[in-house]
Amino acid sequence: MTMNFIMFGPPGAGKGTYSSRIAPKLGIVKISTGDIFRRIIKEDTPIGREVKEIYNAGGLQRDDLTNQLLKEELEKPEAEKGFILDGFPRTIEQAQALEGITKTDAIINLIVPEEILIEKLSARRICKDCGDIYNVADIDKEVDGIRYILPPMSPKEEDKCDKCGGEIIQREDDKPEAVKNRLDVYKRQSLPVIEFYKDKVPFVNVKVTRGPEVMVDKIIDMLKEANLVE
Ligand code: ADP
Ligand code: ZN
Repeated sequence: MTMNFIMFGPPGAGKGTYSSRIAPKLGIVKISTGDIFRRIIKEDTPIGREVKEIYNAGGLQRDDLTNQLLKEELEKPEAEKGFILDGFPRTIEQAQALEGITKTDAIINLIVPEEILIEKLSARRICKDCGDIYNVADIDKEVDGIRYILPPMSPKEEDKCDKCGGEIIQREDDKPEAVKNRLDVYKRQSLPVIEFYKDKVPFVNVKVTRGPEVMVDKIIDMLKEANLVE
């Protein structure tokens, strides 16, 4: 049985954190288009420079390029048992392209209020070398009657990645101007993707009110309850 999931949600909701922690538990791979673009940016090529300019401003990359890169990942043997897509599809055109390649079993839809997103994004850090995600925010607040307790996700050793020892840095697009643009782009271009899937694919709607130490197991339980995993 293959399991093909989409991890959906606004920037800063935790798509990267949850897909990288849940995928190995299900024996499937995580495919992050953001990670793919960050790798491309590191190569100092004409296409890398083009991607970098868009990325740093918090804009979306071209659909044709993004779809092609995703297709190449899906064709790899590692993706045979299934996958969690982190950050794809982000436009209707991408969702249509995905439909043409393979089936989707469910959307894991991460829900976080904008106020919390902004706080999380500005406090996010990543490993320069392997992309592992950290966060220095220490959030405990109520929004619309719901309490959010999101403790920091710190590396064991200061400024050093737990996984590879790499340097921990702030992403260029986590700086305030780009964050604002990313949230706008999300509302304009990515939210419609929800409508596109609404009557086609089951949704697992997750309010991210706690950190991964609680939410990872909770999401897996929700997938089990919906008979989406064994
Ligand atoms: P976040 O969800 O926090 O914005 P990502 O790492 O998923 O972070 O994306 C970072 C950037 O990578 C985006 O702003 C965009 O430039 C590029 N990107 C990632 N996925 C896509 C996609 N599916 N389509 C177009 N651009 C993408
Ligand atoms: Zn690392």
